Amino acid sequence: MNNQKLTRRSVLEKSAALPVAGVALFALTACGEEKPKGLVCADPNSLSMAENSLRTSAHYVEKSADAAKTCSVCSFFAAGEPPPCGKCEIFQGPVNAGGHCDSWAKKEA
Ligand code: SF4
Repeated sequence: MNNQKLTRRSVLEKSAALPVAGVALFALTACGEEKPKGLVCADPNSLSMAENSLRTSAHYVEKSADAAKTCSVCSFFAAGEPPPCGKCEIFQGPVNAGGHCDSWAKKEA
């Protein structure tokens, strides 16, 4: 009988500890998430819906798949701060110098 009480107590104690362990695990996981700052010039959360829609339709990406066709060598790009971010004449707001979209046009020398 006495053993049964101890067993219930230990089960209750362990049950109470589970949410604490879950919160600790969540906190550790959240701390591990880091925003790739170097690649995020155009944070979708800071842009309007219209701007996000325009970028989506033009397939804008922060990192071009073709190293020869990046925003930095596009005629619509102007360098800005902080690097590698700059400005695009087509989009309102920042773009990444290493980015790309369907409107890319080679900058004339
Ligand atoms: S038009 Fe496209 S490729 Fe050119 S600077 Fe703007 S976002 Fe970059």
